[in-house]
Amino acid sequence: MSENIKDKLEKIDKEHFSLLIDIGKVAKEENLKAYLVGGMVRDILLRFNNLDMDIVVEANASKLATALVNKFPNCELSAKHDRFHTAKVIFTINGKKIPVDLASTREEVYEYPAALPKVNVSDLQKDLYRRDFTINALAVSLLPESFGEIVDLFNGLPDLKNKKIKILHDLSFIDDPTRIIRAVRFGAKLGFEIEAHTKQLLDQAIDSRRFDNLIKKIRGDRVKIEIRYLFNLLNISQVLKDFFQFGIYRMISTKLEPCHTTTLINTSETNSIKQWLIYIAFIIKDLDKETQEETLKNLQLTGEEIKIINNGLSAHKDLSTLILANKEINSVTIYKELKELAMESILITKLLFSSNKILLSLIDDYILNTSHIKLNITGQDLISMGIKEGKTIGRILNKILEVKIERPNMSQEDEILEAKKISTSTTNETEY
Ligand code: ATP
Repeated sequence: MSENIKDKLEKIDKEHFSLLIDIGKVAKEENLKAYLVGGMVRDILLRFNNLDMDIVVEANASKLATALVNKFPNCELSAKHDRFHTAKVIFTINGKKIPVDLASTREEVYEYPAALPKVNVSDLQKDLYRRDFTINALAVSLLPESFGEIVDLFNGLPDLKNKKIKILHDLSFIDDPTRIIRAVRFGAKLGFEIEAHTKQLLDQAIDSRRFDNLIKKIRGDRVKIEIRYLFNLLNISQVLKDFFQFGIYRMISTKLEPCHTTTLINTSETNSIKQWLIYIAFIIKDLDKETQEETLKNLQLTGEEIKIINNGLSAHKDLSTLILANKEINSVTIYKELKELAMESILITKLLFSSNKILLSLIDDYILNTSHIKLNITGQDLISMGIKEGKTIGRILNKILEVKIERPNMSQEDEILEAKKISTSTTNETEY
């Protein structure tokens, strides 16, 4: 008898559980078979939190989507792609939006390696067979009579227990090389090992050189998505090790040189930090400028993302030049270099100085303290003092701020005194 995980599904939150029950009932009414698949099934079995509901329908997702919308007033159709046989509905429960992705069971036909596959509607077995790894090819029945029953056609359950990443067929990496990145990602994320034969095929795929500089040949957005997930993982030192050791870097650019770091950039400060950008900067730092630019472009980074990386690399370069010239670097130098940079750019500079204790503590001080220093006076105060409106006002305020960085306890009166001092010396100079 196959395993049933109804008890585990009950433990995810109440709303999601009752949604799964309802979807199963409606599928039955419509004579359709519906299954929960992919990451959520894997993660429920591993007792991780994952509420991304991916549901496959044998064989008509669009019909189930329509039935759900008709039956439940709190369910709306958010997208429908007939070409891909997918639909998305959103339930609103207690003010909370819960998206549900529905897809018809599909098979994929690859006309040539790394091509975008042709998608044909098929049965559950073929749908599961097109997936990347056995642990991601588990399905759970949602039909009332078999609710919670696991469909494990490719031995995903033993692999999950033995912590193995295993592909489903020998051509898997050739069909879709982004699975190479995914193998490393799930290995690092879940603490799993890539199974021996899978590792052999991964090595063969990389050693064949057919995926060298892949992002130049195919549209890089799928690779970008996978790299982003990979470099967002917390155990980044293992990720970087595997990235170079397994040769994944060759898919990005064969010119990349192995580099490692055990330094973790603490991004817990704010969740909106794009950690992946910081580590892309880290791996491209030693490339010549032209190759850097080409790589970022091929990775389909946006102009803004490229700017963030370039700003971080430039700040590191500028400060390194000062160090080489034996110039003193203090809080004001750091302030001038880092002000107005995105937090990711600052963290790139910090990462690249990870072996320089003095610079590290100056940059940390900038992040924690200096960047928050504000003046008590404004441009209006300067104008009231008789200083003419115009660019000079901004320059004087900047100068006062630089003084304040070294004397953070300056009062409003101190700032006004400083303003007078600066403006007098300014009017004494012919050019400020
Ligand atoms: P996570 O939530 O950590 O990203 P996930 O398994 O949900 O994990 P997704 O990228 O959302 O990852 O993919 C959902 C499912 O789609 C996977 O579990 C897998 O079954 C299938 N899948 C995704 N990408 C591929 C691929 N490149 N080749 C084959 N199957 C894939």
